[in-house]
Amino acid sequence: MKIKEHCGIVGVYADNSTFITYESLKLLQHRGQESAGITYLKDNRLVTVKGLGLVEEALDSRLLVNAKLSIGHVRYSTTGKGSLDEAQPLSNGDIAIAFNGTITNYYKFGTNTDTEFIMKVISEASNIKEGIRRLVDLADGAYSLVIMTKKGELVGFRDPKGFRPLVLGKINDGYIIASEDSAIRQLGGKPLRDVKPGEMIYIKDGVIESEIISRDKVSFCSFEYIYFARSDSIIDNVPVYNARVRLGEILAENHGVDADVVIPVPESSIPIAIGFSRKSKIPLEYGLVRTLVAKRSFIMPTQDKRNAIIEEKFGVVRSVIEGKRVVIIDDSIVRGNTMKKIVKMVKDNGAKEVHVRVGSPKVKYPCYMGIDFPLTKELIANDKDEKQIAEYIGADSVEYLTVEEMVKAIGREDLCHACFSGIYPLKFSYDFRHLESVFKKVS
Ligand code: SF4
Repeated sequence: MKIKEHCGIVGVYADNSTFITYESLKLLQHRGQESAGITYLKDNRLVTVKGLGLVEEALDSRLLVNAKLSIGHVRYSTTGKGSLDEAQPLSNGDIAIAFNGTITNYYKFGTNTDTEFIMKVISEASNIKEGIRRLVDLADGAYSLVIMTKKGELVGFRDPKGFRPLVLGKINDGYIIASEDSAIRQLGGKPLRDVKPGEMIYIKDGVIESEIISRDKVSFCSFEYIYFARSDSIIDNVPVYNARVRLGEILAENHGVDADVVIPVPESSIPIAIGFSRKSKIPLEYGLVRTLVAKRSFIMPTQDKRNAIIEEKFGVVRSVIEGKRVVIIDDSIVRGNTMKKIVKMVKDNGAKEVHVRVGSPKVKYPCYMGIDFPLTKELIANDKDEKQIAEYIGADSVEYLTVEEMVKAIGREDLCHACFSGIYPLKFSYDFRHLESVFKKVS
């Protein structure tokens, strides 16, 4: 059973909403590649279609029926095997939910998954608005969500700490609520603003209302800027691309190395490498070529699947590497397996030295707020220092940003950095050893 989710969500109230939702999901594909689903309202019934795989594999667009109201979801399975019954949206016939995050304390309420917990709380309330208020009282963790009802209501909500992004926009004659603004812009819509932490957006019959349900100290997920979001997205007024370039500039300033060439691990590391190259004056080259078959290895659920993908994921441009001192830039190192293989590939192609520079701090702790980092013992930086990590991955040196450098680069203080610092910005207190065993048991 999976409990942790990191996903892309969208809700649309507009003409052609089903097709807009389908296209949006394709543009949010980087947030989840294991399943996709859409619920739409037709003849007062909620109809849900979902399947496994990429959006175009999972959903046959020819079977989609046009409707004014729909929601959609792409997900990756994080702790389980990726079966269809765990795909979203989750519908009970009256309401349908698409959810991005993790309700950290859901297990205390006797439901099997956090999405079921949300469904239970909301369906027991007298109306949807009341349901969201109850959810905020009871739930801890990260939860950006869109919900639609049989009555024709569309609700978007972002948890009071605002861990995950959520954006409100105009599209055609109506509205769209989506995980990232880049998807809205690419569809020809107009992003209006970020949904505020703790804010509920309520849309019915084309009329939009908003209400701040609860305020808290904001803890936006720093990993969205580092890795997860698209580089052309703007989150809470900070362009992701600019944040990534600054991560690279500070990396070069404080963790520089004598070298001949800088090569990024594509895709999210490219702006980080641009920043590193600009600041260090070491030329940037396209030394690792990402092949089109590649899915993001980090979000594949098992080690076997991840290994198979790493093998076919990158080609190496020998002519830019041979005989050179190479700096490989990556956005993060989690288990270390991908980087170990990349370092070997680069050395096998004649690199004289290989130095790894990482555009984030060391990932030392699990995430209980919606991103599937492995358990503590599987994180390479949990019990190893830089020298030991360099030995493990076969590099001549490895250096990371510090938490302070990362915060400075992103340019906002209100960030969650629990996976780097071990400081969890949650509402309630937990015995984290117990929490890890709970999460492990259900995986
Ligand atoms: S623990 Fe890390 S991945 Fe999880 S929400 Fe915080 S910053 Fe993001």
